Amino acid sequence: MTADVAIVGAGVLGASIAWHLTALGIRDIVLFDRGEPGQGSTARATGGFRAQFGTALEVRLALLAREKLRRFREEVGVDAGYEPHGYLWLARTAAELETLRQANGMQRECGLAEARILDSAEIARVNPAVRGEFAGGAYCPTDGFIRALRILDGYLSGARKRGARLRTGVAVEGFRLERGKVTALRVAGEEIPCGTVVIASGAWSAAVAGMAGVLAPVSPLRRQVALTEPTSVLPASMPLTIFVEDGFHLRVRDGRVLLLLPTPGNSGDAFDTSVEPRWLDDIARIARERVPVLAEATIDRQGSWAGLYEMTPDHLPLLGFSGEVENLFLACGCSGHGVMFSPALGQLGAELLAGRTPSLDVEALRPDRFRKGKAAPGAALL
Ligand SMILES: Cc1cc2nc3c(=O)[nH]c(=O)nc-3n(C[C@H](O)[C@H](O)[C@H](O)COP(=O)(O)OP(=O)(O)OC[C@H]3O[C@@H](n4cnc5c(N)ncnc54)[C@H](O)[C@@H]3O)c2cc1C
Repeated sequence: MTADVAIVGAGVLGASIAWHLTALGIRDIVLFDRGEPGQGSTARATGGFRAQFGTALEVRLALLAREKLRRFREEVGVDAGYEPHGYLWLARTAAELETLRQANGMQRECGLAEARILDSAEIARVNPAVRGEFAGGAYCPTDGFIRALRILDGYLSGARKRGARLRTGVAVEGFRLERGKVTALRVAGEEIPCGTVVIASGAWSAAVAGMAGVLAPVSPLRRQVALTEPTSVLPASMPLTIFVEDGFHLRVRDGRVLLLLPTPGNSGDAFDTSVEPRWLDDIARIARERVPVLAEATIDRQGSWAGLYEMTPDHLPLLGFSGEVENLFLACGCSGHGVMFSPALGQLGAELLAGRTPSLDVEALRPDRFRKGKAAPGAALL
C-alpha cells in the first residue's frame, strides 16, 4: 500500500478534508483511524451550529460552513440536519451585555445581518421557558443544529466512492523522516510510503504530530453532557440558550434535553471521559433554577456522557503545513467547534493541500503562529 495523501484520523475533519481533496481530483488517499470513524470526539458532539462568534475569522468560517450545509444534500448526497432554530445568549449584567454588543457589531460587519441584540421582553418571547433578570441578550435565528454523524458519514462515503481508502482499527505509530520530509507512516509494524501526511487526530493531535517532531499545541479538555429522560416540557424548536455568566447552556434533541456547563478539565488523566455524579447533581439544580419546567424532567444518569474538546491556546483551529516538516499538514485543534467548522475547514484545507489560493484568508490559522509569536489573542464567547 502507498498513498499520495495519508490522513491520520477519520473524524469529521479528516473525512471532510478527504472529500474535498477528491472533489479537486486528488484521489490517492488513505484515511487511518485507530478505532472506528467518529469514535473520537465527533460522535460525542451535541450538534450545535452558530455563526455568533467572537472573532471575524470564526464568523467567516461559520458563514462559509453554513452556505455549504444548506447545499449539503445537493453536494454530498446526505441531509446534514441543519435546523435553524437559533442561538440565544443571555446577559445578566451590563458588562456581559457589552461583550455581546461588541461581538454583534463585528458579526454584522462580517455579513451576519440577522444577528441582533434583544431586550428582556424580546428574550421572553424568544424563549419563554427561561426565568431570571436579564440586562439583555443576543440572538441569531439562522444559528441552530446539525447532525455530526450524518456530516461525517456523508463526507466519508462520498470520498470512498471517489476512490479514497479507509483503514480502521490501526493506530499510526510513527513516521519515517528523510531530509526534513515524511516518506512513510508506520502502521501495525508496516511502513506505508506516502507523499503528504495530514494530522486530523482531534484531541490526540499533539501526540501524533510529536512522533514526527512537530509541535501541535492541542490539549484535551473534558466536556460533560447531562441528558434528561424523554420529556416534552420544552419544544424541539427552542433555540440553544446560553448564559454568558458561566456558559451553562441547553438544547432539545430527539425528545430529550441536553444540559452543558463548562468545568475545568480533570486533574488526573487529561483524556478521562467519565461523568462526575456530583456534576450531574449540580447541573440538574442549576437547570431547575433557570428553566423551572425542568423540575419535571429527570436526568438519565446512564445516558449522560463526556468527550474531549481539542483546545489550542487561542481557541482557533490549526490549518496548514507545519513549517517544521515540509509535507506534514495539520488540520486539528478546533477547540470544540470542529463539527460546525468541518465543511469550511475541509474545503480550505484541501485547497491549501492542492497548492491553490484558499477561498478565505486563513493565514491566522497557520500552525506555526505560536512558534513565531504571531498568534492573535483569542476572543472566545464560549
Ligand atoms: C461533549 C461535546 C460536545 C460538542 N459539541 C459540539 C457542537 O455542538 N458543535 C461542534 O461543532 N462541535 C462540538 N464538539 C466538538 C467536536 O466534537 C470536535 O471539534 C470535532 O468532532 C473534532 O473532529 P476531529 O475530526 O478533529 O476529531 P475526532 O472526531 O476526535 O477524530 C480524530 C480521530 O483521530 C483518531 N486517532 C487519534 N490518534 C490516532 C492514531 N495514532 N492513529 C490513527 N488514528 C488516530 C481517533 O481515533 C479519532 O477518530 C463537541 C465536543 C464534545 C466533546
